Amino acid sequence: MMNYKIIRSKRKTIALQVNSDATLTVRIPYGVSMGYVERFIEEKRTWIEKKQAQFSELKAKYKPRQYVNGEEFLFAGKPYELEIVPGSTARIALTTDGRLRITEKCLDAPKHYIEWFYRQFAKRHIKARTKEIAEVFGYKFASIKINSAKTRWGSCSMRGNLNFSWRLVIMPEEMIDYVIVHELVHLEIKDHSKRFYARMSELMPDHRRREKWLKVNSGMSTL
Ligand SMILES: [Zn+2]
Repeated sequence: MMNYKIIRSKRKTIALQVNSDATLTVRIPYGVSMGYVERFIEEKRTWIEKKQAQFSELKAKYKPRQYVNGEEFLFAGKPYELEIVPGSTARIALTTDGRLRITEKCLDAPKHYIEWFYRQFAKRHIKARTKEIAEVFGYKFASIKINSAKTRWGSCSMRGNLNFSWRLVIMPEEMIDYVIVHELVHLEIKDHSKRFYARMSELMPDHRRREKWLKVNSGMSTL
């Protein structure tokens, strides 16, 4: 049997809610029997377990980082193991054998230094990639800025300025590309109309799969 919390209220139907800590809340109308609730939950078991698994996976992915040797950091979707080396000046680098190497000095404020490094990486990576893709599809943009947005991967202003969150570079390459193409198409079509999605399908036939992946694997909207 599954553990859950019941909230009775003046409502007509039963509603199930899987919370972000993977617990289950069941909202039911007054007068509904526990037997009925149990059967209802049993019927929805597959859906509930799937949601719970998604939340646990997310939790594991976004658990607070520890700044110790071997801790994993993602750059363009690839894992890099943290390696702390001696050094009294702050230095950070990605090595070709998959390590994020930082000097001991960085441990004074590791989050600060590593975020700074992510921003630098994002600037290089996203700018280069956006230029490449824009050229292939014939789009012209005014500028690219990298911000720290936590709720939006990217945006496009009326004047053709593109903005991307540095957090995007944690995601796999193909997801970064999806957000870039999405914002480039906004240069031409500002809203999310049928026309917008028709253009997306033309330029990136599997864009829906990528958008869905991003939604499931992050709490952020793709805009
Ligand atoms: Zn959009």
